[in-house]
Amino acid sequence: MVKKERKALKTYLSVPVVKIFIYLCSMKGTIFSIEEFAINDGPGIRTTVFLKGCPLRCEWCHNPEGLSSKPQVMKKKDETVVSGTVIESDELAERLLRDEKIFKLNNGGVTFTGGEPLLQAEFLCQVLGKIRPQIHCAIETSGYANEAVFENVLNNVDFVLFDCKHTNDVLHKRYTQVSNRQILRNLQILKESGRDFILRVPLIPGVNDTKENMLAIRDLILDATGLKRVELLRYNKLAGAKYGMIGLDYKPSFDTEAEPRCYTEVLAEAGIEVLVL
Ligand code: SF4
Repeated sequence: MVKKERKALKTYLSVPVVKIFIYLCSMKGTIFSIEEFAINDGPGIRTTVFLKGCPLRCEWCHNPEGLSSKPQVMKKKDETVVSGTVIESDELAERLLRDEKIFKLNNGGVTFTGGEPLLQAEFLCQVLGKIRPQIHCAIETSGYANEAVFENVLNNVDFVLFDCKHTNDVLHKRYTQVSNRQILRNLQILKESGRDFILRVPLIPGVNDTKENMLAIRDLILDATGLKRVELLRYNKLAGAKYGMIGLDYKPSFDTEAEPRCYTEVLAEAGIEVLVL
C-alpha cells in the first residue's frame, strides 16, 4: 500500500462510527410544514421545520396536525389535503443547504420544531449531521424524552428553545397528560451543558399564569449560564381553528377568552431578560 493510500485509510478509520452512519444512510422522517423567514424561532431570520408527532396533549396546542406521527387527511374549507410528508434526510438536508448563504447573511439558521422533534431523534440527528456546521441549528422542544436521547440531540445543535409549561407536576399532568419530571431533568442537563437557550413559557389564563409559577420558573433558571432570555407566549385565541379539520374536538377546560397575567417583573427583578410575544 502506497503512503497516500495508507494515510487515506487511516483518516477513514478515525471517523467515529456514528459519523459514518450519518453520512452513509438516509433515513425517512415525517414533517408537516417548512416555514421560511421566521423571526421568532431563535436567532436571526430562520427556516422552521415542523416534525410530526408529539407525546404531550397540551390543552392549548394550536398545531393539532402535529400530534399524530403519521400523515393525516385535513379537510379545509375548499379542499382536502394530506398533512404530513415522508421525506428522506438527504432530501431535507439538500433543501435546507440551498439557503445557507441567506442564513449567514441574516445571522439565522434552521429551527426544528413540531410536534416534538425529539420523537424523531434519529432522523433529526441525521439531518443535523448533514447540515452542520454550515448552518446554525436550533430545536424547539418540550424537553419530554429520555436523557440519552435529549443529550444526543443537544450535542448536535447550536441553540435550544426549551418549553416550560408548568412547574407543578400535578397541574402539568392535568393540562398536558404527562409528568414534568423528565422535562425538568432535561432542563438541568441543558443548563449544565452551557448551551445557549431561550426558555419559553406559554401563558395560559388560569392554568400557569400565577405569580407562584413565575417565581418557581425564576428559581429554575437563576443559575443558567446559557440562558439568553425568557419568552412568554400569550395564549393563541385561534388555537382551536384546525381541530375540526382533522376530526378532533377542541374543548379546553380553561377560559379561552381571559387575558393571561404576565408577572414579567418577577423575572426582570432577578436580572433575567424577558420578552412577551
Ligand atoms: S408540546 Fe407543543 S406540539 Fe405537543 S401538544 Fe404541547 S403545544 Fe402541542
